[in-house]
Amino acid sequence: MARVIATGTDLDALRARLRSGNLPEELLKPGPEVVLRAGDRRLTRNELRAEAEQVAGGLQQLGVKPGDRVAIYAASSLDWVIAYLGLQRAGAALVPMNPDYHSAEAEHILNDSDPTLVIADAPRAAIAHGLGRRVISVDELPRAIAPPMPDLTPESLAAIMYTSGTTGRPKGAIIDHGAFLAQGRGAMEVWRWTSNDILVHTLPLFHLHGLGMGLHGTLLSGASATLVHFSPAAVVAELTRQDDQRGTMLFGVPSMYQRLCDWLDEHPADLSHVRVFVSGSAPLPPAMFERCERLLGQKPIERYGITEGGIVVTNPYDGPRQPGRVGLPFPGVEVRLGEKDEVQLKGGQVFKGYWRNPNATEEAFTPDGFFKTADVGEIGEDGTLAIRGRLKELIISGGFNVYPREVELVLEEHPAVDEVAVAGLPSEGWGEEVTAFIVPSKTRPFDEAELIAFARERLAAYKCPRRVVVLDKLPRNAMGKVEKSKLTAR
Ligand code: AMP
Repeated sequence: MARVIATGTDLDALRARLRSGNLPEELLKPGPEVVLRAGDRRLTRNELRAEAEQVAGGLQQLGVKPGDRVAIYAASSLDWVIAYLGLQRAGAALVPMNPDYHSAEAEHILNDSDPTLVIADAPRAAIAHGLGRRVISVDELPRAIAPPMPDLTPESLAAIMYTSGTTGRPKGAIIDHGAFLAQGRGAMEVWRWTSNDILVHTLPLFHLHGLGMGLHGTLLSGASATLVHFSPAAVVAELTRQDDQRGTMLFGVPSMYQRLCDWLDEHPADLSHVRVFVSGSAPLPPAMFERCERLLGQKPIERYGITEGGIVVTNPYDGPRQPGRVGLPFPGVEVRLGEKDEVQLKGGQVFKGYWRNPNATEEAFTPDGFFKTADVGEIGEDGTLAIRGRLKELIISGGFNVYPREVELVLEEHPAVDEVAVAGLPSEGWGEEVTAFIVPSKTRPFDEAELIAFARERLAAYKCPRRVVVLDKLPRNAMGKVEKSKLTAR
């Protein structure tokens, strides 16, 4: 039997407790205190609740019914949040769309999810109109008297979240209300989120990281958040304010931490009062971990998640935070390794299947109900998980298996390397050839032969890059993940 790591006992009861309740009711708890800020605008809990109720009324007048889907195709803003809470309050489900998506990408998601209505900002409204959709403006949301709270259960549809599609067409993950509740409550527990916290919220709201963790965690914990368009200067300004709105938490992806550290190198700041920095959505290179510790004044907490599975494991708040490892399961979550060391998981926050895609759904779960992530993992003696890369990115070179992340970890250590991605390119002799795509450091001379020699001292010969391609930057998606298909398509 495969070893299972889990946090908590009587996991079924724990999951039921974490999933219980009415999602809009829990997200919209009344209160006089400020809950969200963006620029000069701020909303108290009572105001946010009233806004959501009125928008729910407006949506209902436009024909939105409980169980319908409503897409939001807009850049993150306070109005995005109001639109979202309004549609939840109306009993509808969210289809969040990456505002960077062009027409063809938007078309796929809109055709697949078939929403009653698209809520968009001006640039995206034109695209959605062009695709023949009914569109309303996120800046002028309809308002009317609130409808009665619809009958909602933890099994009600909350969202269809499309996978990032770094390897193929995005699929819609069905997320229910209980999953969002379990996710947000889990985050409160593992990161000790309290009503005293102020999150500097810079992550896109269309993604689970910004929505399920950032926004829901804020609303469920009684804390508040400041919505900021990410730039290192803006983030540092929020984290060093001299008033009672100073940020205590930051969630980011590794490329944000890289830019933040580059900035802090030039403009040192005392961030010692920040309670916690969390990193995820892509691997945090160990060298970045050290750099963060030095420049932010503490070790970041790295966690791992996936749209379909939620945020599933995290380095501990109190215990050792280890570079290159993603830690222990969230409350109620079980993790094990399947064939080829594939990470498999079960938990209250896991999705229900792919929207209108029973074949993909069947393939995604094991017969005993674990979700197959297609990530390759390793479980250490201390029961913590490390991620070794995507199963699909496995390189088979000369008949040997090479996990790109293992090679990347070695090359990242080289002082002349700023960023690296490893992928397999077709090769007559080897089947696939281990290829390193390198962004060299701006301050050190880069020598390809020397880098390969460096790898040879640290890795078996078959894992060493046979080719090095030098680039100015790596192609990354909105969450900072390297788009390897773009690299290999070159
Ligand atoms: P998404 O569904 O967009 O959240 O992407 C999920 C994928 O991101 C996972 O399947 C992993 O491959 C990757 N990922 C997320 N967090 C981490 C992490 N801390 N370390 C390594 N890979 C990660």
